[in-house]
Amino acid sequence: MLVSHPTASPRAHADDPRLRHLLHPDHAGEYETATRLAVTHLASTLSRVRGPVTGSSPARAAASVDAVDLDLPLGCTTQALAELDRVWLDDTVWFHEPGYAAHLNCPVLIPALVAEVLVSGVNPSLDTFDQSVGGTFIERRLVQWVAERIGFSSERADGVFTSGGTQSNLQALHLARDRALERPGVWPARLRILASADAHYSVQRSARLLGLSEDAVLSVPVDERRRMLPDRLSAALSEVVSAGDSVMAVVATAGTTDHGSIDPLPALAGLARAHDAWLHVDAAYGGGLLVSRTRRHLLAGIEQADSVTVDFHKTWFQPVSCSAVIVRERRHLRHVAAHADYLNPRDGGGAAVSAPNQVDKSLQTTRRFDALKLWLTLRVMGAEAIGDLVDAIVDLAAAVHARYAVDDRIELHAAPELSTLLLRPRCPGLDADDVDRLVPRIRAALWSAGAHVVAATVVDGRRWLKLTLLNPMAEVDDIASVIEGIAETAAALARTEAA
Ligand SMILES: *Cc1c(COP(=O)(O)O)cnc(C)c1O
Repeated sequence: MLVSHPTASPRAHADDPRLRHLLHPDHAGEYETATRLAVTHLASTLSRVRGPVTGSSPARAAASVDAVDLDLPLGCTTQALAELDRVWLDDTVWFHEPGYAAHLNCPVLIPALVAEVLVSGVNPSLDTFDQSVGGTFIERRLVQWVAERIGFSSERADGVFTSGGTQSNLQALHLARDRALERPGVWPARLRILASADAHYSVQRSARLLGLSEDAVLSVPVDERRRMLPDRLSAALSEVVSAGDSVMAVVATAGTTDHGSIDPLPALAGLARAHDAWLHVDAAYGGGLLVSRTRRHLLAGIEQADSVTVDFHKTWFQPVSCSAVIVRERRHLRHVAAHADYLNPRDGGGAAVSAPNQVDKSLQTTRRFDALKLWLTLRVMGAEAIGDLVDAIVDLAAAVHARYAVDDRIELHAAPELSTLLLRPRCPGLDADDVDRLVPRIRAALWSAGAHVVAATVVDGRRWLKLTLLNPMAEVDDIASVIEGIAETAAALARTEAA
């Protein structure tokens, strides 16, 4: 113990330097000063940002971190923040910068940042009522609200917040597996999951974690716009049955990570139902359409899912982490329920009324109150305002595609359904293999220059640059400048290639 228990005034320890960093009413002033310092520091840093990245290399980033002596504390927040500039902030990635067009990162909403202050200061844990009180009910209200947006019956639906789409997908497939295994004559090694070739890799990883066989996930072909082909799903389902295997789940993606493509949900739902298979809709990316005033119809059919993944930290502009898995039928969540005497005993601990404990529905125990971010965002600005931001990024992608649809320097992949653009440079004299070699070099050159950040992927064996647009404040000219940067870099690299 640091101090003997105070018998005199509770303020007797207020000057103990070892305690003054603990949040406590006696240290409220210190808390306010230090927190304001951080906020002021970030605000002034933001005003100095001149591009999405500085092009720092892994070696440089590692060296500045390594230079810190963790056994020599600085003793003061101001100095620690100054040091932090060198080891992180000076060279970090800024997702609000219009030149950032790489992964599924979004600029974040300020009401959610206000929530972060409260969440970290109060520090509740959402596993049990007696660690969160109203927090438990805020999360439950939001789950019901999202369920209604999906089109589920709020009486029967349920769900829980998770750390991200990867975990939401794992939990959904966990439920699907245990439901499948309830049936007589079904064996874990014979369970099959059908997903498109473009489904998120976490589907494969979940299958492995759930102890399914190596070949449990079958890849269903996609059309030219990368949407799962219903007739190919139908054929695959028949093959599973005729092989004597069992369909555990069909995983449809509403917004694929690489293309933003939305699988044809109504057709896939019909096929899943005909085979009595669990339908999981991974709307980690496309989930923002739930609140769009003009594009909600793109998710038609999602209400037929058994489970849905929504990442609020993507198209709902929430800070990481903020995601949920929502199920159509509450009873399926019992498959993840576990009971511990010290937490949520099966008999309610002898209480007259057993407390509602969210841990009964979660794979996590101690769990952040991430739901508060969405709550404050809805209370401050409302769902339609979020939906308008989603529309802005989808409109942006469409406008950029229209501008570059015919351009002899750039080949664009299919028109975007959401906010992703894939492109390859066209370089006179270079064949497809040459361009494949050029793609990672373009990406690296852009990173080093710092003005534009793009991602890359492989489609049908060919390398493509990928622009994921998640910034509602970016304009067509901003993204055009990214593409001009790509075209110029490609031309310059192609010249050296030819030389
Ligand atoms: C991002 C993404 C995921 C994974 O979500 P995380 O929050 O990164 O764990 C799952 N599925 C799709 C389609 C995604 O785009």
